[in-house]
Amino acid sequence: MSDEKATPLARRLIRQIEATGPIDVATFMTLCLADRRHGYYTGGDPLGAAGDFVTAPEISQIFGELIGAALAQAWIEMGRPRPFAMIELGPGRGTLLGDALRATRTLPGFHEALTLHLVESSPALRAAQARAVGERAVSWHTRLDEVPTGPPCFVLANEFLDALPVRQFVRDTRGWRERRVGLDAHGDLAFVAGAPMMRAALPDAPADVTMLEIAPAREAAVREIALRLKHTGGSMLVIDYGALDLDGSDSLQAVRAHRAIDPLAAPGRADLTSHVAFRPLLQAITETGLHAFGPLPQGDFLRRLGIELRLRHLLAGADAEMVTSVRAGVDRLIDETAMGMLFKVIAASDAATPPAGFTADEEWT
Ligand code: SAH
Repeated sequence: MSDEKATPLARRLIRQIEATGPIDVATFMTLCLADRRHGYYTGGDPLGAAGDFVTAPEISQIFGELIGAALAQAWIEMGRPRPFAMIELGPGRGTLLGDALRATRTLPGFHEALTLHLVESSPALRAAQARAVGERAVSWHTRLDEVPTGPPCFVLANEFLDALPVRQFVRDTRGWRERRVGLDAHGDLAFVAGAPMMRAALPDAPADVTMLEIAPAREAAVREIALRLKHTGGSMLVIDYGALDLDGSDSLQAVRAHRAIDPLAAPGRADLTSHVAFRPLLQAITETGLHAFGPLPQGDFLRRLGIELRLRHLLAGADAEMVTSVRAGVDRLIDETAMGMLFKVIAASDAATPPAGFTADEEWT
């Protein structure tokens, strides 16, 4: 076994696979990210320049401020209900939340009405979230179904769904087979193909597509939120990297210290995500009877929420160095060659009125 593969989780997986055979990619992903002892998110704080990856709210405070404005608009459009809940899934360091709270401070009655529920599995990130919200009362939950159902709510998930597990299927001359993690001739972790499976068990794919990824856990999460919103009223905003439909390539990716690495190289020590396919999520929303909107490229969404205006306000009176660095952050969020096009935004609402940032003709039907 090479040194790189010698993480504690790799050794455990190898023993398990030797004993009981290959595991599917979803199980591998779940263990890598969420294993109680060796999981990536169980271990520490992976975010920021010194960590493994950087997310939009960590790049610019304007991101969270604009989401705060969208949250406030949702509250106003609902007739300013009290109480009103915000549920954030996977809040990371709580940066977005802190910025959203600061941006909505002056809206009369809003902070008094707001209750905060954070769904977070990482103890280290819960601690960071507590620091980010300061004095405010917050409830933490390990799973969405632990959040009490009550007042109307706004549900937010930025770069959360990409961490939920995917299953992969590959097509060869004998048909479709599930891609699994097994062992190679040296006893190292390697991708292997399972037994041929029944065609009917998979979604349709064009004849030239040889790789399919499905994410039942992502669909289930979105369906669960939609059913909750149907009951309580409110809206949801999901932001993640991906596309309406995936392009048929292997999108599983591991990142460590801001570099892409082999997904099997450092189990439990690297972030592991895959591209989000939005079509099944939009379908899951509309199946519950809710209105779904998008997907909209992140750059368009942020421009519509007024990112340029907000930037001008923020930079009024700033020195040249500050102007350059803040402008660079905003450009990274909206530029087509950076995050502006790769990241997409979808929304769901119990009301037919399009949520902030969307137009009526962007409703998914
Ligand atoms: N939204 C944040 C962080 C994104 S990273 C931001 O934009 O900066 C993914 C987040 O989801 C982390 O907070 C991670 O701990 C959390 N997470 C990942 N899988 C989870 C799961 N299955 N249950 C709860 N939280 C999870």
